[in-house]
Amino acid sequence: MNSNNDIWLHVIDVLKEKFNLSETALNTWLRDCSVVDVEDNRLVLYTENRYKGEQVSKRFGSNIKEALSDLFACDFDLIVLSGEELDDYKALSKAQNTLPEMDGYTFDNFIVGNSNRYAHAAACAVAEKPGTVYNPFFIYGNSGLGKTHLLYAIGSFIHEKNPAANIVYVKGDEFTNEMVRSIQTGKAEDFRKKYRTADLFLVDDIQFIAGKESTQEEFFHTFNSIYEAGHQIVITSDRPPMEMMTLDDRLRTRFESSLMADVQPPDVETRMAIIRNKSGKLGMPLADDVVAYIAERVTSNVRQIEGVVKRLTAYHSIMQVGVDVEIAKKAIKDVVREGTFVPPPELIIRTTANYFQISEDDIIGQRRSKNIALARHVAIYLIRNLTNLSLNDIGSIFEGRNHATVLSSINKIEEIIKTDEKMSNTIRDITSNINSQSSN
Ligand code: ADP
Ligand code: MG
Repeated sequence: MNSNNDIWLHVIDVLKEKFNLSETALNTWLRDCSVVDVEDNRLVLYTENRYKGEQVSKRFGSNIKEALSDLFACDFDLIVLSGEELDDYKALSKAQNTLPEMDGYTFDNFIVGNSNRYAHAAACAVAEKPGTVYNPFFIYGNSGLGKTHLLYAIGSFIHEKNPAANIVYVKGDEFTNEMVRSIQTGKAEDFRKKYRTADLFLVDDIQFIAGKESTQEEFFHTFNSIYEAGHQIVITSDRPPMEMMTLDDRLRTRFESSLMADVQPPDVETRMAIIRNKSGKLGMPLADDVVAYIAERVTSNVRQIEGVVKRLTAYHSIMQVGVDVEIAKKAIKDVVREGTFVPPPELIIRTTANYFQISEDDIIGQRRSKNIALARHVAIYLIRNLTNLSLNDIGSIFEGRNHATVLSSINKIEEIIKTDEKMSNTIRDITSNINSQSSN
């Protein structure tokens, strides 16, 4: 199911039925628009022609908004992009790391249960009194359990109380990329200033900077400046600092002396509460048997629970039918793919390249400098271990490789791992980085 497309088809139906738009009008203006994004109560629409874009907003904007607000049972906004605006939009949504839309990621919307009670209480305390006793604050746990939600909740709370506070949000890998770019473009000073002047520094998924010396060095100085200024730092990670093997010792020491809280998978009562809450908010309370059915089956990840509920709501609105256990079963199957996550080789290559701070082309290509060759062996080893691809398949991804050279890379890494603990840690860190990108 292509849900963005389904939403648009649904909107077109409503325009036709409810607002009596003619087939000609629909064909002329609307049918070939495409939905770029549906996020934060906002639908972003794209049409190539500028004039058309203007006309769509002007003539049909309010009807489209009304159709969307009905569909999602909350106020909905519409943005129409045309021409190159799409590129700008994409560049912006990628680069934006000051403060992303934090709508919905608030303390009010966070369901508290045994699995996250401590993390939630600590986050509230930090938000109430930033930069005092619980500084830095470190939240860790597996993917999809509410770390980013709590991080944003702290941000929203502080922003609400003090709109002038300079809140800087960044993801570990963005910090790295931005730093590298700032050096290449001679803007290192701006980069430093931007981060070191934060009143509240929110760092999401810090595990992505582990292993990269120059980034860790810069991060260490950023951390110190903010900390010494008495400003609050909040960090999330998929594992506790002591398990981040390739983390600089100075940073590890800093993190270990922070207030740490973990988030665990929710127990069944909490899962039921989350399902009730999310479905209620989406305007479609679910029957008790459906709630229980989902709660018993989707157990380890709140993001997946949310995915199932969203699918059911969309299904309900579009098909105009009630949701029962049978339908829930299908939605669960869509969201929780049978078996485990198999990462695509491109993701493995990208994550490995990122980790070694080289380009993807270098990994795939034939350059033989030591660091690049090692990264290539690691990527090959990981693809072999994490996917079902044959040696030949793997060979065809890389330039000038066949099953024999692939096998030799794998053997090489297996040999190194036997004696070199650092390499096993590297493999573990990269694997974990790959997995934490799987559910996003
Ligand atoms: P993480 O950063 O740990 O991978 P997120 O914070 O992105 O996870 O959470 C995944 C999704 O699940 C988000 O949409 C978030 O709002 C939701 N979520 C997680 N935990 C809770 C909770 N306790 N109550 C309500 N929603 C939650
Ligand atoms: Mg997250």
